[in-house]
Amino acid sequence: MTKMNAAMFYAPKDVRFERIDVPSPGPGELLVKIGAAVTCGTDIKTYERGHPAIIKKVPSTFGHEFSGQVVGVGKGVENFAEGDRVTCCNAVPCGECFYCKIGHRNLCEDLLVLNGAYAEYIVIPARMVKVNTYKLADHMTYQEAAVSEPLGTAIHCIKHAGIRQGDTVVVLGSGPLGLMICRLAHLQGARVILSGEITEERKRVATNFGVNEFINILEVKDVKERIQMVKDLTTAGKGADVAIEAAGFPEAWEEAIQMIRKAGTVVFHGGCKAGTSITLDTHAMHYFEHKLIGVFHQDPEDYRRSVQMLTARLVDGRQFVTETMPLNQLISAFERVRRFEGIKFAIDPSVM
Ligand SMILES: [Zn+2]
Ligand SMILES: [Zn+2]
Repeated sequence: MTKMNAAMFYAPKDVRFERIDVPSPGPGELLVKIGAAVTCGTDIKTYERGHPAIIKKVPSTFGHEFSGQVVGVGKGVENFAEGDRVTCCNAVPCGECFYCKIGHRNLCEDLLVLNGAYAEYIVIPARMVKVNTYKLADHMTYQEAAVSEPLGTAIHCIKHAGIRQGDTVVVLGSGPLGLMICRLAHLQGARVILSGEITEERKRVATNFGVNEFINILEVKDVKERIQMVKDLTTAGKGADVAIEAAGFPEAWEEAIQMIRKAGTVVFHGGCKAGTSITLDTHAMHYFEHKLIGVFHQDPEDYRRSVQMLTARLVDGRQFVTETMPLNQLISAFERVRRFEGIKFAIDPSVM
């Protein structure tokens, strides 16, 4: 059995770099040589505190945003062949449970999740090959295709925001998802305000994506001041039409609610720690007709659109990768993201 380099998750703060067996594809499956694997906030959270849905038993392979080349095809696969360049969404619904049947495939009760992008090879399970795997157009790089998974969640989020041309949209959070949401809001015809940790790199990318105004929370630390800044930027000082939270902190959720006008919408995209809660002004909720919407994950239709947008470069996936780092530098890549030193890092598994 040939061996490969892989990052193995043992426990929070315990990821080891090992040589493990190259997996082999079963019926309906694809063996893919990783072309690009990119860091994601979810991986960083998983590294820091574990993840009950993604890592079910340890040790586990790790990482979930990737693309690569098919090097092995399981029995019965018809749509893919050796040599195809592909990407896939790392989670796929069952299509048969209660939520799948009522049209909420993102809330599937039997979601199949794939880990193991931080390795030289990965096997894509049959259900994923059927539903959520796509060939890459020739012009696409592996790195830009690898951001298709998070972009799918951003598309799912925007679908719920009800943005109309000319709206002012404030996005809280300047990580990769915040930036993707900014881009999609811009494409919907909105004037976009980005409130987050605005580093030089993020400002450059966000400007390319069409962001109109910035609030740098590293400089403007007072929440009330930030809320006022948003109001000052909107018609008659009433507040944003839509606020989208993509930071994942209860404080930011509360801040977002205070940034919208009457009858405005807040979409909560950033997942907070389990057990946290927010305080809601019931008076404002009632008299101001606020619409507060939670969103989670994506369904295969969102993912299909994501691949299309990246292929057309309506969202330029090349903008997200700051630098390529060797596999054994994975943790330092996480630390650099935490210090806002980059947006995403591509991990090269062939170097360990
Ligand atoms: Zn991700
Ligand atoms: Zn289901």
